[in-house]
Amino acid sequence: MSASAEKFTRQTLLAVEPLTANLFSLRVSRDPGFRFRAGQFARLGVTKADGSVVWRAYSMVSAPHDEYLDFFSIVVPGGEFTSELSR
Ligand SMILES: Cc1cc2nc3c(=O)[nH]c(=O)nc-3n(C[C@H](O)[C@H](O)[C@H](O)COP(=O)(O)OP(=O)(O)OC[C@H]3O[C@@H](n4cnc5c(N)ncnc54)[C@H](O)[C@@H]3O)c2cc1C
Repeated sequence: MSASAEKFTRQTLLAVEPLTANLFSLRVSRDPGFRFRAGQFARLGVTKADGSVVWRAYSMVSAPHDEYLDFFSIVVPGGEFTSELSR
């Protein structure tokens, strides 16, 4: 759902797939208004247990015309963002 007063949209994490011991893919829903070109990145935010939001840059690996957004992520041991995702 998009929130007009905010510079971000809230999307749903649809799938997380471990690919190797230190790489996984994630698929999220896509706001119809979100456009990008191949090679561009987005900033993804996750809400931590204490309510604060951690933002990190991630490159889209899905095509600009796809219905969903796909990303590949490394696992950073103890990483603030990747630890929240695995939680
Ligand atoms: C333009 C841009 C595009 C990016 N695209 C992707 C992407 O498509 N996929 C992806 O997985 N990441 C991508 N990143 C990196 C991503 O934004 C995060 O920094 C990364 O996933 C780690 O976040 P974290 O919060 O888990 O770790 P942090 O809490 O930020 O880091 C924890 C510790 O790990 C170290 N560290 C962090 N990242 C790395 C790394 N890559 N290699 C070695 N040590 C590291 C930090 O220096 C720190 O010491 C991109 C970054 C930029 C700037």
